[in-house]
Amino acid sequence: MAKITLDNLAHSYLPNPKGEEDFALKELNHEWNDGEAYALLGSSGCGKTTLLNIISGLLRPSQGRVLFNDRDVTNSPTAERNIAQVFQFPVVYDTMTVWQNLAFPLKNRKADAAYIAERVGKIAHMIGMEAELDHKARGLTADAKQKISLGRGMVREDVNALLFDEPLTVIDPHMKWELRTQLKSLHREFGHTMIYVTHDQTEALTFADKVVVMYDGRVVQIGTPEELFERPEHTFVGYFIGSPGMNIIPARIEGNKAHVEGSLIELAQTYGKIDGDVVIGVRPEYAKLSSKVGLPVRIRRVEDVGRHKIVRAEFFGRDINIIAKEGEAIDADMTRVVFDPARVNVYANDWRVTGEAA
Ligand code: ATP
Repeated sequence: MAKITLDNLAHSYLPNPKGEEDFALKELNHEWNDGEAYALLGSSGCGKTTLLNIISGLLRPSQGRVLFNDRDVTNSPTAERNIAQVFQFPVVYDTMTVWQNLAFPLKNRKADAAYIAERVGKIAHMIGMEAELDHKARGLTADAKQKISLGRGMVREDVNALLFDEPLTVIDPHMKWELRTQLKSLHREFGHTMIYVTHDQTEALTFADKVVVMYDGRVVQIGTPEELFERPEHTFVGYFIGSPGMNIIPARIEGNKAHVEGSLIELAQTYGKIDGDVVIGVRPEYAKLSSKVGLPVRIRRVEDVGRHKIVRAEFFGRDINIIAKEGEAIDADMTRVVFDPARVNVYANDWRVTGEAA
């Protein structure tokens, strides 16, 4: 396994990039710990695949270095990086059986026959294909072929890193959940350094120790699922993660108060002068309906999603979502919303601003 260092890394697909906007991947410095599972999360076009391809060696960055355990591999081809990759669509040998496909990476490295049999058996069990080991890959569904690709990616224990690029896209929803769980237990068992690209927050949050959130070519936050939930460093993280995402309201901050549309909101911290576009961000989980205090809202509808209710409301033409616990009364006179002061984040030009204890 390897620690992966991204040193001053950036990439532009243009031959002569002028400004930052010409970079598909904006400058990034980070060390990814040996043996951790990372998810690269962001919407389409934000640069996830570009970053993954630089790490795997499919793409040479226009700036900076990639180090595996402090060895500079920036100019090394993929074959020399000792990594396993699984792509969005299956890559299998049609004329080989499932067993032969799974054994291929080990045979290639001249592994011992007993070890191959043991590993293939284990992986086949994990992907639920023990009964099909003698079948040729040719006749199998796309779903089954992708499971073989996943299995083949995971069969070697001695790789520097395992890279997955949206590997569950073609897998049916039930199997998706199962494979994700399996991947996680495989990670626990073998401690591979894993990087998993996805635009699906559930996939990222359940799979990864740390989620790397990307937005417009930039890594905006690297954190545990809890950190991303409690302290989104960028409004995109707040909005993209969570269901529904964080409420974002333009505000003017004065000390430990936020002024919004003529109402005052208490903050748990005190802030100095803040420049730029200022907003507050509050997750729907930390908003509560009230009949007496808080921001006046118009409730549009209430969605019962089983575990809780989502109240969709409007505040001066802006959407505000509130999560009400199951059994919590929602009375007709509850037309105000209060926020838990300790959970209100303040942002300037989309980046979180820290205050001082009030
Ligand atoms: P998706 O989830 O759709 O795969 P992504 O987050 O992986 O998106 P990238 O594929 O890394 O994003 O693309 C980042 C940006 O770089 C996009 O604007 C894309 O159009 C651009 N881009 C990607 N590949 C190339 C290329 N080979 N040549 C030029 N521009 C590219």
